[in-house]
Amino acid sequence: MTETNTMTDLTTDEKTTNGRSREDGSASANAAATRILANYVGGRWVRAQTAGSVDITNPSSGAVLARVPLSGSADVEAAVAAASAALPDWRNRAVGERTEFIYALREKFRLRIDDLAASITREGGKVLSDARAEVSRTIEVLEVACSAPMTMQGRILEGVARGINTETIRQAVGVCAAITPFNFPAMVPMWFLPFAIVYGNTFVLKPSEQVPLTAELMFHIFEEIGLPNGVVNMVHGAHDAVNAILDSPGIRAVSFVGSVNTAKYVYRRAAEKGKRVQALGGAKNYMVVMPDAVVDKTVSNVLGSAFGASGQRCMAGSVLVTVGSAKTAIMGPLKEAAQKLVAGDGMDAKASLGPVISSAACERIHDAIDTGLKEGAELLVDGRRPEGVPTGGNFVGPTILNNVTPEMRAARDEIFGPVLSVMHVDTLEQAIALVNSDPRGNGTSIFTENGAAVREYSRRIEVGMVGVNIGVAASPAYFPFSGWKDSFFGDLHVHGWDAVEFFTRKKTVTSRYFSAGETGKFFVEQGDKH
Ligand code: NAD
Repeated sequence: MTETNTMTDLTTDEKTTNGRSREDGSASANAAATRILANYVGGRWVRAQTAGSVDITNPSSGAVLARVPLSGSADVEAAVAAASAALPDWRNRAVGERTEFIYALREKFRLRIDDLAASITREGGKVLSDARAEVSRTIEVLEVACSAPMTMQGRILEGVARGINTETIRQAVGVCAAITPFNFPAMVPMWFLPFAIVYGNTFVLKPSEQVPLTAELMFHIFEEIGLPNGVVNMVHGAHDAVNAILDSPGIRAVSFVGSVNTAKYVYRRAAEKGKRVQALGGAKNYMVVMPDAVVDKTVSNVLGSAFGASGQRCMAGSVLVTVGSAKTAIMGPLKEAAQKLVAGDGMDAKASLGPVISSAACERIHDAIDTGLKEGAELLVDGRRPEGVPTGGNFVGPTILNNVTPEMRAARDEIFGPVLSVMHVDTLEQAIALVNSDPRGNGTSIFTENGAAVREYSRRIEVGMVGVNIGVAASPAYFPFSGWKDSFFGDLHVHGWDAVEFFTRKKTVTSRYFSAGETGKFFVEQGDKH
């Protein structure tokens, strides 16, 4: 751990290395490994005031990319002060002016898609095609945020009584903050930031300490478009920074995405402090395959869902449930196709899946597989020792555990790795009961051509997002995104119409004017008696 004690600006040299990888074994690699990231406060890159720091590593190689400071409450309060100072001017600007910044961001993100994707792959491990898809999704959020002049409109009713109108207007909430996970370093922070600022709020981001370099790169892009100082701020760190955000009286709304227990904790602590909260938690997503499913298409969707991003998506299909004769139809082709998937460095175009985020995650996943076997599951595909992967990386190959039963850990835990648990039931009714017995309810899919089965399943399933013949049914940015039950704490979901609800406060004004009604004049003029 390294200690730093003052809030100081960085030198030009320190700033220019931000967001770039130096892992080529040269002197510059050492410089990168010892560089401590800066917070971004009030338009300046500043050292964290009180923090130690931890390594940021490339999960494909174990190479240290830089260090991230573990900021504390003084750093958070500095960011909140900057955001509070920027608020009056920012929220008073015309909505169209704020929207112009989002248009500019969208253009920058399109131009920088390769840089952003490379950064995501470098620090997060997912293959480049997945990383590019993440940036495309991020751009989609920016595009939807550009609809602010429409979505921010209020409502008015003329004549609630004679000569009286009532109108509801939408105003900014204040300083908003987001706390984000490792698995979507660009998209998840941008689920919130563009909507928050376009509706007139100012913002503090606490990115995942495991993948802060993409956030740093995005903040360099924010600088390029000339956002006023203090509108967006970033504080790096872990638990202390999170607690400071939850407790800060200056922060009015908190968006959180991460694991179930942290989501519960964040929701409780922030709500207790009177903040508006949306806290998205972890998941266990079931894919139900009916006997009439189209086998080849189902297999490719199931594999994409289970093993894409190495199973580290909150929408990853981690349990496959076959119904009746679907078991005989699907298991052979599934095994064969899974064995063809190749683990490797995310930068390698031949890799179907990259490493998992950390050596700790790697150990946890191995442990989950071993426990599954001890508990009686059958190892249909074994990814525990993938061949041909780079040394030093956190690789787990595609793994399929067959004949998993509900009491096994493989059915209960969110493994968050490339492990697919397979369960078999006889009827759709049993499949629905199985899925609904899970405490979480983020996403689910059903594979069938039978409309009646689809209707029954989507109507009765206690899950926030349902895919029909789609393995990852993540809602587009113009629809709300969120799970149910333990996968979500709060009321208003991410993006879609919920974004304007979350990032604005409604105010209702009821008004009448005496002058015209009583005198026939529209203005009270000097000398008039009233
Ligand atoms: P995590 O819960 O470990 O961390 C998320 C954030 O919370 C990080 O910024 C971290 O610094 C902070 N944090 C972690 N533990 C904390 C604690 N005890 N006190 C205060 N702050 C704490 O999650 P992760 O491992 O980064 O991300 C993976 C998890 O996120 C998975 O469970 C995944 O399903 C979930 N996720 C959910 C969604 C969704 O939409 N529901 C989307 C993406 C990821």
